[in-house]
Amino acid sequence: MPNLLDYTQPELRDLMQSWDQPAYRGDQLYSWLHKDLATNPEQMTNLPKALRTRLAAETTLNPLQLVVQVDSKDRLTRKALFRLADGNTIEVVLMLYNQRRTVCISTQVGCGMGCTFCATAQGGLRRNLSAGEIIAQVHWFERWLRQEGGKADGLRVERPSRISNVVVMGMGEPLANYEPLFKALRAITDPDNFALSARSITVSTVGLVPMIDRMADEDLPVGLAVSLHAASNRLRGKLVPINRTYPVESLIAACHRYQQKTRRRITFEYALMRGINDSIEQAQQLADLLVGLRSHVNLIPLNPIPDSPYQPTSPEDAASFQQVLQAAGVPATMRLRRGIEINAGCGQLRQAMQQSDVIPLLTEP
Ligand code: SAH
Repeated sequence: MPNLLDYTQPELRDLMQSWDQPAYRGDQLYSWLHKDLATNPEQMTNLPKALRTRLAAETTLNPLQLVVQVDSKDRLTRKALFRLADGNTIEVVLMLYNQRRTVCISTQVGCGMGCTFCATAQGGLRRNLSAGEIIAQVHWFERWLRQEGGKADGLRVERPSRISNVVVMGMGEPLANYEPLFKALRAITDPDNFALSARSITVSTVGLVPMIDRMADEDLPVGLAVSLHAASNRLRGKLVPINRTYPVESLIAACHRYQQKTRRRITFEYALMRGINDSIEQAQQLADLLVGLRSHVNLIPLNPIPDSPYQPTSPEDAASFQQVLQAAGVPATMRLRRGIEINAGCGQLRQAMQQSDVIPLLTEP
C-alpha cells in the first residue's frame, strides 16, 4: 500500500486528481499529514466521507509500528524500536538535553559502510528507507511531545512541547540514501507545515565527498557532522573503509567548500578508542588538520560492541586528548555516556533485541 508520507504536496495533488478529486484535496491532505500529524483518515473532517474511506482502504499513513521502547535511568533518553511494513526494524532516539528535545533518526535498515567499530555495520545494508519512513520517525516523537496526556509516562518533559532539533545520526549512512533524505528534510522544514528550521537539523556522514558537495548546493543549510575518528589515512582507512575512496584531504577540502557555501560550523565526531586513536600526537594531528576551518570536535567515548577489539579510552586519556585540541584552538566537547545503559550506540538496541538479551523497561500499552 502506498505510504502517503512519501508524497510531496504537488504529488498529493496529482494523486487526488487521479482519483477524480479536485487538486485542493491534496493540499488538505498534506496539511492533515504534515501539520496535524493525523494517523487515521477519519480525523480528516474536511474531506468527504467516501474519500476518507478510500484513503483508509488503499493507503497507509503511519508506516511505523512500535516494537519496544526503553528509557534511560535518568529519564532523559528514550529509544524506540519500530517495525516497518516489510518486517524490518529501525531505531529512533529522543534526547532531552540542554533545553532541547532532539530526535535522532535512521535513514537505512542496516548500513553498507562497514565501519569496524559500529554495531549497525555488522549486518550490512538491508535497504534504504523511503522519505515517508524517515518523516514518520520525526512525526512519531513529535506527536508524543504534543500530547498532553500520559503524564505517568516516564520521561522528564514539559508537555505539550515540540521537537526542537533533528540529528540524522541513527542507523545507516544518510548520504548514501540522498534523495529520500532530502525529500524528508524538505517536508519537515516546510514553513507552512512542520516548520522545523534547517538550522536545527544536523546530518552526520561517514564522508561521501561528492554528496557533501551536492548538499552544499541544496539551499537548505542543515548542519554537517563528519564521522572522522582518525586524522591519518593509514588509520582512518582501517576504521572507516570508505576513506580508501575519499581520503582525509579530499574530505576536509569538501568541508571547507561546505562551510564557504553555508557559513555553518562543522562538527567532527571522534570516537575515542584506547590505544588506537587517542594519543597526544594523534590529538595534535587532528588539530593540525582542522586549522582554518570553523569546527567543533565531538569526542565520544567508544561504546564497546560485541566481537570487536576496540575499547573505550580511559577518562584521563580522553581529558588529555581534549586539552590538546582546546590548547590548539579547536573547540572540543566530550559527549556524555548517557545513552549507554539503553544501548543507544548506533544499531545496538536492534542488535540486542535480535539476541533478545535486553529487558524492555517500558512498552506502549
Ligand atoms: N553513517 C553516519 C551516521 C550514523 S552513526 C555517520 O557515519 O556519521 C552516528 C555516529 O556514531 C557516527 O559518528 C559513528 O561513527 C558513531 N558510532 C558508531 N558506532 C559507534 C560506537 N560503537 N561507539 C561510538 N560511536 C559510534
